[in-house]
Amino acid sequence: MLGILKAVQTTVKAAMRRPVTVQYPTEKKVLPHRSRGLPVLLWDFDISEPFCTGCQVCARYCPVDCMTVTMKDNPNFAAGKSKRKKIVDKFYIDYARCMRCDICVEVCNFDAIVMNNTWEGVELSRYDRQDLVMDLPALLRQSKSGDLETPFREPMGVAHSGWAPKEDEESVAAAEAASAMRHHGTSPDSPVAKTPSVSEEEGAARPAGPTSAGSKSGERTGEAGKEGGEG
Ligand code: SF4
Ligand code: SF4
Repeated sequence: MLGILKAVQTTVKAAMRRPVTVQYPTEKKVLPHRSRGLPVLLWDFDISEPFCTGCQVCARYCPVDCMTVTMKDNPNFAAGKSKRKKIVDKFYIDYARCMRCDICVEVCNFDAIVMNNTWEGVELSRYDRQDLVMDLPALLRQSKSGDLETPFREPMGVAHSGWAPKEDEESVAAAEAASAMRHHGTSPDSPVAKTPSVSEEEGAARPAGPTSAGSKSGERTGEAGKEGGEG
């Protein structure tokens, strides 16, 4: 009898509880600031041009080779309005192939690309796969229109950039220690669990240059890194 009463009490409590779910898609929860949707480009409102210089570094590091970028001379530089000698000419990302790894964001020297942290960055149903290939206007649209209100501009992957939020260094260290214990049963100081330094990791994991990731390099002309941008 007592068991039945307890069961009824639990059922009534559950029935009265406020649901944790919402009626998607008419209702949507607010996404966390660091949500990792698909990559989009940022618009520089000070000069009215993209931040992207078309340097192609992101395209070279993209592990699935889903980006194509070209650059051109920047007319705003010639007019003395911009510090960017070169500017992006064409930019394509095939969202059907992108795996949202964030590497393009981490390697960009110009803070020109971010992972979309709005619902538009995750709602991508299309009838035709070709519609998932985004061109430059499509990649800039949200930033340019102001829909991308608070882009998260910091690289997220500690493993690739060595970056970590300053206030959060202790918790990152604690998380690494816990992970090492979980995977190896050792402390992070032991040789097995030791996390490689940024330089060690760059040497081991990063592709050497355009030849390692540049199967579409026919369209990838121009200089890499900061050479292509601010003079
Ligand atoms: S690395 Fe940055 S500046 Fe260079 S092409 Fe990619 S988004 Fe543009
Ligand atoms: S998030 Fe990763 S897979 Fe997607 S475009 Fe950037 S580097 Fe390529």
